[in-house]
Amino acid sequence: MRKPLEIGRRVVVIGGGDTASDCLRTAIRLGAEDVTCLYRRTEKEMPGGKKDRKMAREEGAKYRFLTQPVKFIAGADGKLAAVECIEMKLGEPDAKGRRKPVPVEGSNFSVAADTAILALGYWPDPIISKTTPDLETHDWGLVSVKNKATGQTSREGVFSGGDCVTGPDLVVTAMVGGRKAALAIDEYLKNKK
Ligand SMILES: Cc1cc2nc3c(=O)[nH]c(=O)nc-3n(C[C@H](O)[C@H](O)[C@H](O)COP(=O)(O)OP(=O)(O)OC[C@H]3O[C@@H](n4cnc5c(N)ncnc54)[C@H](O)[C@@H]3O)c2cc1C
Repeated sequence: MRKPLEIGRRVVVIGGGDTASDCLRTAIRLGAEDVTCLYRRTEKEMPGGKKDRKMAREEGAKYRFLTQPVKFIAGADGKLAAVECIEMKLGEPDAKGRRKPVPVEGSNFSVAADTAILALGYWPDPIISKTTPDLETHDWGLVSVKNKATGQTSREGVFSGGDCVTGPDLVVTAMVGGRKAALAIDEYLKNKK
């Protein structure tokens, strides 16, 4: 049987999407006593769903807005003891119209924590592109697919699908990519001389 994940007593979750809401609620259910979300903009700019935040709050999660973590601070035992943060304010809108968070000089403060969870989006392991000759990647290491119907990559005999091709998406999208690639691999192997 899989061992349950170990969680600290005071947990901070960094990020503002649905993954952050999942992490907050999971941390509480794993027994953490104090669970706080740190987000660098205000609630209005949060990309995650309102309903998920409502449920996280109902379970006991707290939120600190306009808060940007800048440093992890270790205790005497070498383990995480606190997260140093800086207060932010909203500045001018960016290209997408979202107001950019700007640090407030000298406003650093620390939040006690023994576990920090980074819920800041997820991208392919960069080692894949660095160590695989002829495998083309693009933005944040996503694998380039030459043929969407098969998942064929730039490298002969290598097929790809799922989040490492699309970026963060859904289980069903990954399943479709996986099925297409599996069929194409079968075909490729049958035709290989
Ligand atoms: C918190 C959270 C909540 C989500 N909720 C939902 C939801 O409610 N509904 C939904 O549809 N989707 C949800 N998603 C998205 C969904 O989980 C993904 O879209 C889906 O898992 C993608 O499947 P995948 O097979 O492409 O990648 P993954 O499931 O990420 O599988 C990739 C696998 O490759 C392994 N791997 C990575 N690098 C290497 C390497 N170098 N060598 C060997 N193995 C490696 C990883 O360990 C992993 O096992 C959620 C995601 C997160 C993070």
